[in-house]
Amino acid sequence: MPATIIDGARVANTILAQTHQRASDIATALGRRPCLATVLVGDDPASRTYVRMKTNRCRTTGLDSRSRHLSASTTTSEAVALVRALSEDPSVDGILVQHPMPAHLDERAVFEAIAPGKDVDGVTQASFAAMALGGNGFHSCTPGGIMELLDAYEVDTAGLRAVVVGRSSILGKPVGMLLLARDATVTYCHSKTVDLDQIVAEADVVVAAVGRPELIKGRWIKPGAVVIDAGYNPGNIGDVQYAETAERARLITPVPGGVGPTTIAVLLRQTVTAAEVASL
Ligand code: NAP
Repeated sequence: MPATIIDGARVANTILAQTHQRASDIATALGRRPCLATVLVGDDPASRTYVRMKTNRCRTTGLDSRSRHLSASTTTSEAVALVRALSEDPSVDGILVQHPMPAHLDERAVFEAIAPGKDVDGVTQASFAAMALGGNGFHSCTPGGIMELLDAYEVDTAGLRAVVVGRSSILGKPVGMLLLARDATVTYCHSKTVDLDQIVAEADVVVAAVGRPELIKGRWIKPGAVVIDAGYNPGNIGDVQYAETAERARLITPVPGGVGPTTIAVLLRQTVTAAEVASL
């Protein structure tokens, strides 16, 4: 039987409706709307599009946004200074530094300039540690959104074998840790992994987080597996061979319309939470 297609937009809209209500409530208490500041460095068209999608979604969800755009020749210290200023600005609740940043910048240094209470994209070491240790902190948004999808489709990962392909600090590593916290048995794969096909073939849950079009072949997928494709490649192509995988999997995310919408919904929800905490 072909897979059920996970409707990321539907899951995101449920989160956004709750977030809109909470944003209205906190606006009454604060005397202003929750505010997300975005920082974009350079002119990468995809990054511009992602920032625009996020600020548009703020508007329709009852949040304010403030966009800061730095030129591609910006230095690390200039970017750090801007992020520090936003961290100290009491009218800003959350900060999103769009990544990847231009290669000459020390991205980690810029991330670490985000005050932990405003790290609504979950990119700082403090947020990562809190997530890994099960403490309070904001999740990296795409992994957080993937957990929302699993919850919405009632996937109980306890005891399941989960294979995460990709180990970036914002996506692969944290999603594996969140699955581990839910008692999955987690294997990470990466560019040096040998026999990727055989490892994927053992997975009850596959998370693809690579950025290589259709790297994961449908014939590798264990019948009945849950397949989450976080990859996004030009031409609306994911990291998973979609049609062939949908013939074998139980659940599958489409690209687009799977992981992407919940990523933005989690970002906005975390911004409203930051505003609530700041108002206490
Ligand atoms: P990244 O930092 O480039 O990491 C890619 C990972 O894939 C690395 O760990 C790399 O291994 C691994 N890899 C590369 N080639 C491989 C291969 N042949 N076999 C197995 N693993 C391989 O990318 P990212 O930022 O995590 O993003 C990954 C994808 O997710 C991209 O398509 C991106 O557009 C998408 N994404 C989507 C969202 C969303 O909201 N939907 C958000 C973020 C990212 P090494 O560590 O060994 O180099």
